[in-house]
Amino acid sequence: MWFFSDEERELREVCKSFSEKELAPYAAKHDQNESFNISAFKKMGELGLLGITADPKYGGSGLGATASTIVMEEFGKACASTTLSYLAHAMLAVNNIQVNASEQQKEKYLPKLISGEHIGCMGMSEPEFGSDALGIQTRAKKVGNEYVINGTKMWITNAEYADVAYVYTRTGEGKRDLSTFIIEKGMPGFHFGTAIHKMGMRGSPTGELIFDNARVPISSLVGKEGDSTYHMMKNLEIERITISGISLGIAQACLEQSVRYANERKQFGKTIGNFQLIQKMLAEMATEVEMMRHFIYSVAKNYDLGNKGPTVAAQVKLALPKMATKIALDAIQLHGGYGYSREFPLERYLRDNKLNEIGAGTNEVMIMIIAKNILKEASR
Ligand SMILES: Cc1cc2nc3c(=O)[nH]c(=O)nc-3n(C[C@H](O)[C@H](O)[C@H](O)COP(=O)(O)OP(=O)(O)OC[C@H]3O[C@@H](n4cnc5c(N)ncnc54)[C@H](O)[C@@H]3O)c2cc1C
Repeated sequence: MWFFSDEERELREVCKSFSEKELAPYAAKHDQNESFNISAFKKMGELGLLGITADPKYGGSGLGATASTIVMEEFGKACASTTLSYLAHAMLAVNNIQVNASEQQKEKYLPKLISGEHIGCMGMSEPEFGSDALGIQTRAKKVGNEYVINGTKMWITNAEYADVAYVYTRTGEGKRDLSTFIIEKGMPGFHFGTAIHKMGMRGSPTGELIFDNARVPISSLVGKEGDSTYHMMKNLEIERITISGISLGIAQACLEQSVRYANERKQFGKTIGNFQLIQKMLAEMATEVEMMRHFIYSVAKNYDLGNKGPTVAAQVKLALPKMATKIALDAIQLHGGYGYSREFPLERYLRDNKLNEIGAGTNEVMIMIIAKNILKEASR
C-alpha cells in the first residue's frame, strides 16, 4: 500500500521470512496434534513483536494498528492458530496493560511479556456470557487488603500456557460496574480448567480460567474500581481490526494456492486455468482479496492517525472474515476432491477462518453495532 512507512515495509519482510521458516512448515502438524508452536512464539520475542504496540521503555516496539495488522496478515497466511495466540498475547494482554495499567504494573509485567519469558491472555467471556459481555458474573470483592474473586472465564486463548491473565470482573451491581485485575499463575484459588477441543485454530490453546475464592492483592487492580467498561470497548477496536488481518492472510494464501493449482492441474487435456468458470473464481477471489487489503489497511492507518471508532472496526470485522470464508470455500471448490482432502491446507484455512466470524464478537454482534451507530448518527 502506498501509505506504508519504510518501517512497516521492513516489518513485512521480517514477518514473511519468519513465517516461512518458523510457522508454515509446522502448521499442519500443530493443527493435527492440537499442539502449540511455543518455540516459534518465544522467538517472536526476539524480533520485538510480542510487544508491538508497547512503549520501547519496557522493550516494546511502539508501533500501531497498521504494523500489528501486517504481522497478523503475514503470520495468518502461514499458521492462523499461532497467530491467534499471538493476538491474544500482544493485542489482548500486552496492549491492554500498556494502555490501562499503572506505571508500576507496566514495569512489573511488560518486560517479561515482551521478551517472551511470559505468555499472556485476556479473560472476558464466560460460560453464560459471551456476546453480552457487560453481563459477566465473575465477581471480585474487596476483603481487607485483598480482593477475593469467584467465577469462571471460558474460551480463553492461551489459558493453560499463560503466566499473566488480564481479567474482567464485576465489582458492583450496575451493568457497568466492571473492574480489571492482572492475575498471575499460582495466585491462591486461581487455576486453569480443561483444554477446549475445537474445529479450527487447533494449534492455539483455548481453555478456562477458574477463580475459586482466589485471593489477589489490591495492587492487581487496573485503574479504579468500575473503570473497565470503557477500557474493554476501546481495546475491542484494535482487536477487531487486527484479528481481521488473520482473515486477510488466510484469503491471500487461498488465492496463491488456487492460482498455482489452476496452472498445474489438467483436465480434458488442458490446465484448468483455461476454463472460464475457473477464471471467474480466480478473478473474483483476487478482486475480493484486494478489496479486503485496501479496506483493512485504510482503517488501520486511520486508527493510527487518531481517527478511531467502533463502527468502522466492526465493519472490518464483519466484512473480512466473511469474505475469507467465501474465498476458502471457492478455493476448495477449485481444487475439487484434493481441496476437500488434508493433502492441501485449504480445509484448514476454512476451519481456522470460521473462528474469526465468532471470536472478538460474532458477525451478528458486528451487525448490531454498525446498525445501532448509523441509526443514531442519522437521527442527530
Ligand atoms: C477459539 C476461541 C477463542 C476465543 N478467545 C477468547 C479470549 O481469548 N478471551 C475471551 O474473553 N473470549 C474469547 N473467546 C470468546 C468469544 O469472544 C465468544 O465466543 C464470542 O464473543 C461469542 O460468545 P458466545 O460464544 O458466548 O456466543 P453467544 O453470545 O451465546 O451467541 C450465540 C449466538 O447468538 C447470537 N447472538 C447473541 N446475541 C445476539 C443478539 N443480541 N442479536 C442477534 N444474535 C445474537 C450470536 O451471534 C451467536 O450466533 C474465544 C472464542 C473462541 C471460539
